[in-house]
Amino acid sequence: MPMFTKKEITDILKDNTQNTELFRLADRIRQENVGDEIHLRGLIEFSNICHCTCKYCGLRVANKNIERYRLAPDDIILCAKNAVNAGYKTIVLQSGEDIFYSKDIMCKIISEIKNLDVALTLSIGERSFKDYKAFKAAGADRYLLRIETTDTNLYKKMHPNMDFKNRLNCLYNLKELGYETGCGSLIGLPDQTLESIACDILFFKELNADMIGIGPFIAHPDTPLIGTKNGDFTLALKAMAITRIMLKNINIPATTAMETLKPNGRTIALQSGANVIMPNVTTKECRKKYEIYPGKATPDEDVREYRNSLEEKIKSIGRMVSKGHGFRGQ
Ligand code: SAH
Repeated sequence: MPMFTKKEITDILKDNTQNTELFRLADRIRQENVGDEIHLRGLIEFSNICHCTCKYCGLRVANKNIERYRLAPDDIILCAKNAVNAGYKTIVLQSGEDIFYSKDIMCKIISEIKNLDVALTLSIGERSFKDYKAFKAAGADRYLLRIETTDTNLYKKMHPNMDFKNRLNCLYNLKELGYETGCGSLIGLPDQTLESIACDILFFKELNADMIGIGPFIAHPDTPLIGTKNGDFTLALKAMAITRIMLKNINIPATTAMETLKPNGRTIALQSGANVIMPNVTTKECRKKYEIYPGKATPDEDVREYRNSLEEKIKSIGRMVSKGHGFRGQ
């Protein structure tokens, strides 16, 4: 039962001579604990309006070079119906931190989508305990909120005017309310150390996160991090593989940022510990506008076509698409 220490994780991240063995082990542990099925989650990016100041993110409030959009509740529900008709069993609602979507508006959207007999994941940032509680009562099953980094100094630098403690609090609130809770971090932020990535992974274990999304940082030209180096694909893949080895039966997406940095990056991730893909099912006109980082790998096909092409890809690596809702450890 590998339960690595901070030092051991740091050493693995540092040493590149045994990467193939690491990825193979993560792939085996994935197979033994969650099987060969891949869960497809239909991702609806319903608003790119955001009041946050995260230095790396293209949606940050100070970015004036972005065309903002906000989908009406009925249009969000239409996207969800479209995805369900194409075969999706989970819908993920993601957005910037857009206060237009009050507790009551969100609850209405949530309960309408839950009528479609799907699992529902939210990823709409930091909200109050009361809001999280209401969303859960309305039917939300899961929540994604990456800690981004557990290095509190780096967190402060990357998130002016935000509070690390509040983010932590949100994560513990979500757990307490019975959500399947997703966390994760960015790999390759300026001045991030390997030690701090090791701490991120230990934190995921301590939180007993149900889902972990790990992606390389990609520098956005309309943010203060313009011109900084992108995160390293292999390092992100290694952090993901170690997370699989340590948390075993959780759900781990092959992230879009990995696909963006490297052709076939997502497929490589699926063979190194990942078991989930989150294809974009937002209306076509909006997909390109949700530009958290440049060059985001978004599909040009319609929802059904894209799903079919992914199914083919999945079959070609000897895996299959799950027909279930894909809760942890199923
Ligand atoms: N408002 C929501 C969703 C944020 S966008 C929330 O706060 O959770 C989803 C994720 O995109 C973020 O958690 C972050 O890890 C990632 N992201 C943002 N900017 C990025 C960049 N420049 N490169 C790579 N990933 C980025």
